[in-house]
Amino acid sequence: MNPDDDHIASALDAVREQIATAARRCGRQAGDVSLLAVSKTKPAAAIRIAHRHGQRCFGESYVQEALAKQQELAGLDIEWHFIGPIQSNKTRDIAAHFDWVHSVERGKIATRLNAQRPVGMPPLNVLLQINVSGESTKSGVAPADARALAHEIALLPSLRLRGLMTVPAPCDDPVAQREPFRQLRELMADLNADGLVLDTLSMGMTHDLDAAVAEGATIVRVGTAIFGVR
Ligand SMILES: *Cc1c(COP(=O)(O)O)cnc(C)c1O
Repeated sequence: MNPDDDHIASALDAVREQIATAARRCGRQAGDVSLLAVSKTKPAAAIRIAHRHGQRCFGESYVQEALAKQQELAGLDIEWHFIGPIQSNKTRDIAAHFDWVHSVERGKIATRLNAQRPVGMPPLNVLLQINVSGESTKSGVAPADARALAHEIALLPSLRLRGLMTVPAPCDDPVAQREPFRQLRELMADLNADGLVLDTLSMGMTHDLDAAVAEGATIVRVGTAIFGVR
């Protein structure tokens, strides 16, 4: 193995072990949490290495960059997740080239994704991005507006609303890190009590994945710990 190969393989093992340990610590199974490898800004070669070591789900934030890598990696069985901000003029490419979108925060974007999902493809899995901490600079819909938007999206036939995603403000305190994740979990429970059927909490990144797993994350999105600093 070349050094890159070796590094990504051992980093992946370490992250898997960290997730399994965090899950066991709170009575969950390692298999309850899936690992999304965030490969934005990293070359297709890095994705290929992670794929060779058993990773199947990859997250990208920039549409043009993602499409170029998808072309290079055509033929590999990869589940592609779009996790970046969505501009209206990019919805057609996202609808056609991704399996999941984590960053839906407006009805207009959801409507476009629904209309542009190609006929014959399964419904696009969608998560609503929630701005739990309420900072005006952060992306995501306010928790108070989530219910109306979730019900609107749930009616769109070419989308499948699966759950919620959040990116909290960075925080170093492992106890305080849990608060926004707890709020996201409770918001999903409220929406399910309100008639929706949501099963996915996308939360936790390199620096806060233990806290997210403890609060019920079903997908953690990890870039730096696998591929190194960007
Ligand atoms: C970049 C990114 C990640 C991965 O962050 P790391 O700190 O590198 O693990 C996760 N989620 C989103 C939305 C991102 O943009």
